[in-house]
Amino acid sequence: MNKLLLCCDLDRTLLPNGSQEESPQARSLFRAVARHPQLTLAYVSGRDKPLLLEAIRDYDLPPPDYAIGDVGTSIYEIHGDQWHPLRTWEKEIALDWSGNRHDDLVSLFKDIDGLTLQEAEKQSAFKLSYYVPEDTERDELLAEMRACLRQNELRASLIWSIDEARHVGLLDVLPHRATKVHAIRFLMARTGFKEENMIFAGDSGNDLPVLTSGLKAVLVHNARREVQEEAMRSVCKQGFTERLYLAHGDFLGMNGNYAAGVLEGLVHFHPETLHWFKPD
Ligand SMILES: [Mg+2]
Repeated sequence: MNKLLLCCDLDRTLLPNGSQEESPQARSLFRAVARHPQLTLAYVSGRDKPLLLEAIRDYDLPPPDYAIGDVGTSIYEIHGDQWHPLRTWEKEIALDWSGNRHDDLVSLFKDIDGLTLQEAEKQSAFKLSYYVPEDTERDELLAEMRACLRQNELRASLIWSIDEARHVGLLDVLPHRATKVHAIRFLMARTGFKEENMIFAGDSGNDLPVLTSGLKAVLVHNARREVQEEAMRSVCKQGFTERLYLAHGDFLGMNGNYAAGVLEGLVHFHPETLHWFKPD
């Protein structure tokens, strides 16, 4: 049997940290599957390395072979306790910033009102994270930043979201090609996995670009209905509905949420993996 690469989002995909229930046996089955020598496991998350490690410890997740972190700006190859950042990935995304790094871009934006850098641990060489007042004219601010980037011939994505609990806007500036999709494809090229031997699992809007990229993908059952509908609409339009699987439960008596959904999707695409299920 061929080897498989399983790429999993963490929060609310493998980690049962949403409002819906987790089937009691889901994570121990997941650990059993992850131990199988034919499986290469990669976590794909917005979390940075300390928060990835915290999630693995707190939720007793199996150690991965690779981790894509910091919203796609870092890829780590993992051997035991050693996490080695892939410098070739940094070189790849650095092209978008023409040799500039975090501090250079901070200087570039220093005269723009309303931007407050987040805490030092939320910054990295290729990620600027700002707080922005919730009532900011978002489109004006982003237009001003884009003009600044254009003048300096830099290619960056500006990712905006709202921290609803804290009533503050969050703005990340990343190299244009530092996306989950591109990072996963980079990892596939590096490890020699082809599309037929990889699966991605996710749950939310920020996973949509991967879920609808044509890679084989699973949406866990606890995903919000709007995300399910949008993902399905997109793959229908592109003509590859067979590459997206919506977990619905009823697999080994589990509910399809979180790890149960990931396993359901794995067996949907690769029925031969059912032999790997031996709970600890
Ligand atoms: Mg998630």
